[in-house]
Amino acid sequence: MMPVPEHIRTIVPYSPGKPLDELERELGISGSIKLASNENPLGPSPRAVAAVKKTVADVNRYPDGSGYHLTQALAKKYGVEPSRIILGNGSNELIELSVRAFVQPGDQVVSADPSFVVYRMVTQAAGGANVVVPCREGRHDLDAMAERITPRTRIVFIANPNNPTGCMNTAAELDRFLGRVPDHVLVAMDEAYCEYVTHADYPDTLEQLGQGKNLLVLRTFSKIHGLAGLRIGYGIAAPEVVGTMNRVRQPFNTNALAQAGALAALGDYKHVEKSIAMNNEGKKFLCQSFERLNVTYLPTEANFVYFETQRDGRELYDALLRTGVIIRPMGERHLRVTIGLPEENQRFITELEKILK
Ligand code: PMP
Repeated sequence: MMPVPEHIRTIVPYSPGKPLDELERELGISGSIKLASNENPLGPSPRAVAAVKKTVADVNRYPDGSGYHLTQALAKKYGVEPSRIILGNGSNELIELSVRAFVQPGDQVVSADPSFVVYRMVTQAAGGANVVVPCREGRHDLDAMAERITPRTRIVFIANPNNPTGCMNTAAELDRFLGRVPDHVLVAMDEAYCEYVTHADYPDTLEQLGQGKNLLVLRTFSKIHGLAGLRIGYGIAAPEVVGTMNRVRQPFNTNALAQAGALAALGDYKHVEKSIAMNNEGKKFLCQSFERLNVTYLPTEANFVYFETQRDGRELYDALLRTGVIIRPMGERHLRVTIGLPEENQRFITELEKILK
């Protein structure tokens, strides 16, 4: 047997759901709905689809490894130098690149619980030590996180809004936190769901970055733009941070279809607006329904809702699954449901109500 390093052997692998067709075959059902992965229920930006179709004829060629056109478009949109932008195979890859670039074995990475598990996985894979700070009512406890920073800390990951809770930290809270973070620590602000935020006090991290704060702002085309299957995201940071991360990335990390789709999606304001409006409507419906059913949930600024159950979370998940409604169990008593199309939200609530009765 090949020896496997202890820190690799003990990684708990990320468990993606089964493909929909396989799940339906096993359960003997059809017409199920997937509200499990925070995808855009409206589908991809139509402009992106057209661009991908056009580009597919050229896939005999390697992609542009620098992602020139997309980088230029992002730089223009955010009013930053292109040297501040890095593209990734989903923001997932950028999370990994940041850890590979800055974390040596024994260094510490601070993140929250519950939060996105990938921060912990990639840290462990790099031989880093995870310092995990419990959330307070679904929000990052930034004071407690600041207190856990040591000379060995390299990165603090903050998902804002947080996944799986949907909760948000305000600009004032982040300001206070950044005031306590020493120069040797990179603060990775994972803003995968930022476009869905309606709260007026959402932090302007690009402004903070402009003021010289040591931030890496991570965003994605997987959510609001509906391109999760293409795998493309981006990071914005100081040129030195981007330059260091570029050293550890593969030359062709983002593929040609993804670059073309993302570029087109970036200009598709109509699709973005429609997606936001539908999410707001669905959020209202789900929250009102939870209240009517006496189900405790957390206020959300994202495209999903985190709720609590009196019974076993896995049991509730299984019961919903048998009706063809797929959501995500999160620990013993909690579940997360993605906000879907109006008819999907209705179907979820109808089935949930039947099960809870
Ligand atoms: N960050 C958070 C908080 C997420 O929830 C997700 C998606 N589940 C990602 C990053 C990764 O998204 P992607 O790799 O598709 O860009």
